[in-house]
Amino acid sequence: MKAYRIHSPHNIKLEEMDAMPVGENCVKLKNLMCGITDIDMAVYEGRRDARYPVIPVRQCVGFVSEVGENVTGLQRGNRVVTYSHASCHNCKACKDGRNYDCEKPALFGIGEDGFLSDFSVVSADDVYIIPERLNDEEAIFIEHIALALNALSRLNVEKGDQIVIMGATVNGIILAQIAMYYQAVPIMIDMHEDMLALAQKAGVYFTVNAVNDDVCKKILALTGGHMANSCVYLTGSGMPLSSACDYTAARGKIAIVGRASGESELACSMSALLDKNIDIHTVVDCGKNYSTAINLLANHTVTVDTLYDKIVSFDKVPEMYEALLSEDNKLKTLIKI
Ligand SMILES: [Zn+2]
Repeated sequence: MKAYRIHSPHNIKLEEMDAMPVGENCVKLKNLMCGITDIDMAVYEGRRDARYPVIPVRQCVGFVSEVGENVTGLQRGNRVVTYSHASCHNCKACKDGRNYDCEKPALFGIGEDGFLSDFSVVSADDVYIIPERLNDEEAIFIEHIALALNALSRLNVEKGDQIVIMGATVNGIILAQIAMYYQAVPIMIDMHEDMLALAQKAGVYFTVNAVNDDVCKKILALTGGHMANSCVYLTGSGMPLSSACDYTAARGKIAIVGRASGESELACSMSALLDKNIDIHTVVDCGKNYSTAINLLANHTVTVDTLYDKIVSFDKVPEMYEALLSEDNKLKTLIKI
């Protein structure tokens, strides 16, 4: 099999490797498409500890090409999407069949080999079948949708709630679409007018430019003087986390969503949170939301067509990494394998 491996920061090589045996409870995938995330860039740059050498990238769509012993529910030819982390299969959650709650998850592409290769072998527990009507490009976004679902369920978002979303990022725009599905009212804040325009295109009516507008004043006006019931802060939004407290009403809730990719420390005043009696939630994984995410994508509740701008071919991966370092890439990059 052919696989890219990162040996040390900025050092990625395409290698011919021995074919992997398909163990018990595992499936072999013929990989079709991968998606690059902030964490993948952090691993490439060495901003994040990884188990080098490592096959990078966790988001993958592929065909099942071989099925190991004891696998039920999957067969050759099924098209699947991979879960974000490999389950340990030993902790209580894994043994109870709740691998999404694994106590020792190893993120693919960091602590466990990822999928930037022509074939992969993965536990049958860590893949989900996707319906035919979803194309590979759309299916790559399933992890983002599941993360957003997890965030909104942690915030207990209800009909009519006003929810500030800090960051018109890929995750932010997806989260806004699901908030609207819950009949909540998203107020999107970002520093980039082009991303706010994309949010508007996705149906977000209230957008605030953090550079040009007095954000607090605008939210105060939009919420009738109350501020927002809850606020989602997206890591990678580039805005200060401390502002989330200013935008949220007393007794409201804040969710910090996404994994830290090592760019800068996130800081917020604890006394300001205490003064307003605000609940804080951290949301870094998808929970039990993959199946729901697949359904919301298949029935077009969430659309992602405007959220990627490049599809790179497999042989251009090294150039892609270097190019992404020098670009202000706000949209997602996909790799066709
Ligand atoms: Zn486990």
